[in-house]
Amino acid sequence: MESQESGSLKEEPLMADCIFCQIVAGGIPAKTLYEDEHAIVFDDINPQARVHMLVIPKRHVVSLDDTHETDASLLGQLMVVCAKMARERGIAGSGYRVVANTGRGAGQSVFHLHFHVLGGRQFEWPPG
Ligand code: 5GP
Ligand code: ZN
Repeated sequence: MESQESGSLKEEPLMADCIFCQIVAGGIPAKTLYEDEHAIVFDDINPQARVHMLVIPKRHVVSLDDTHETDASLLGQLMVVCAKMARERGIAGSGYRVVANTGRGAGQSVFHLHFHVLGGRQFEWPPG
């Protein structure tokens, strides 16, 4: 299943090769915390804080750089899910961080859009 346009310079993985698409499809197990029509939330396999969740769209979107005005509603819903999950996991009161690493230079390693929701420890600014 080709997801790349021919001649595209963007290095986009095929959906079949996408770890997060496989988690959505149930092919790779994950600790799912929440699911609705458009989004799924699961614990990060390598947590960087006491609470470290990933909020992802079920649809394969490479990164924020792959989104447009037509995705405004989806992005809004994902943000609402981030806030809801932070409250549910008890990190809203002490403070939490929502991060979308976008592109290799920013540390993105899985090329399916995801929002890290981290909390339960003190964070530094600026980030590393
Ligand atoms: P990125 O580096 O792209 O911002 O974040 C990718 C995140 O996905 C990393 O924090 C990494 O630990 C997490 N991750 C990678 N593979 C898996 C997996 O198979 N299962 C889960 N639950 N998390 C994963
Ligand atoms: Zn994907």
